[in-house]
Amino acid sequence: MKRIIQDLDYNQISELVVSLGQPRFRAKQLFLGITQGKRISEISVLPQSFRDKLLSEFEDCPVEIIKTLTSADGTEKYLFRLADGNIIEGVLMRYKYGNTQCVSTQVGCRMGCKFCASTLGGRVRDLTSGEILAQVLTVNALHAQGKERGVTNIVLMGSGEPLDNYENVVAFLKNVTAAEGINISARNISLSTCGLADKMRELADEGIPVNLTVSLHSTGDSERARTMPIANKWTIAEVLDACAYYFEKTGRRYIFEYALIAGENCDERHAEQLIALLKGKPCHVNLIRLNEVKERTLAAADEKQAYRFLGLLEKGGLSATLRRRTGADIGGACGQLRASYLGS
Ligand code: SAH
Repeated sequence: MKRIIQDLDYNQISELVVSLGQPRFRAKQLFLGITQGKRISEISVLPQSFRDKLLSEFEDCPVEIIKTLTSADGTEKYLFRLADGNIIEGVLMRYKYGNTQCVSTQVGCRMGCKFCASTLGGRVRDLTSGEILAQVLTVNALHAQGKERGVTNIVLMGSGEPLDNYENVVAFLKNVTAAEGINISARNISLSTCGLADKMRELADEGIPVNLTVSLHSTGDSERARTMPIANKWTIAEVLDACAYYFEKTGRRYIFEYALIAGENCDERHAEQLIALLKGKPCHVNLIRLNEVKERTLAAADEKQAYRFLGLLEKGGLSATLRRRTGADIGGACGQLRASYLGS
């Protein structure tokens, strides 16, 4: 694979332009073209000879949309092909306040959660920061209208564990929030982790106050370890300590994801335990009925059960919502589309 130009920040682009013997103003043109989601070959303000020089060193299109599925609710799901032929997926969810894009951070995942389709084939490789950024720039270009951005919010909830690809993800966060680039505010970005407590603390110290979301899904360590192997490495108490540290450093309230799995984690007893764990903490609980994955045997709680569980949490003083399932008709759950594409 050649280099990926979206890995470079504005200063690095400037150095590159000068090192290739071009006048400095070309840096602005090149950076603007990239930020607008163009391929190098499409940035027509640049002389052809300069574009050719760049193309001998850099990929023209590091992530290419090869398939788009549109749900009845407006959700769009994309299959992207990377320059080395690997496949990742992404989603754009339409809300009244804007468009939220879900991006992938790795090809596959090695965390091994039993309910998740992304981890079925293990981790193939990390994405570079530019490959993560290019997902956003490409989809933004599809939906941008004049000065209005096509992507207003980002969630790092596609395939991969963001904190297992720490350096690339932090570089991505710096570049996507940079004033001279697409400039999406950190408060409009959510990073979701299965709970790598050490990296959560490191992230708190980076000075990029994104929203932190933790996939909890269970109320006790041994129960959690049955579906989430990471629970053998970090206990819930250690994860909660890291959340408290994150809050202390960033002032950002944190969020827990809790997928309701029939017969596993949504009895009255679990509600009580969750309340005991989280009451009084500056957090919110996002409930979601499990998206059933055909390769997995776990089943979703039914709607009645889900509302009952929500009611118990609210009665116990927790801030909680039951997330509506967007894009369920197009394989909206993590890794489903890629899994079906690779399997077909
Ligand atoms: N690795 C990160 C981010 C990717 S997964 C993490 O674990 O948080 C994004 C979210 O989708 C996580 O909360 C994950 O637990 C959840 N998820 C995965 N498979 C799911 C499924 N089948 N149904 C509902 N949520 C699922």
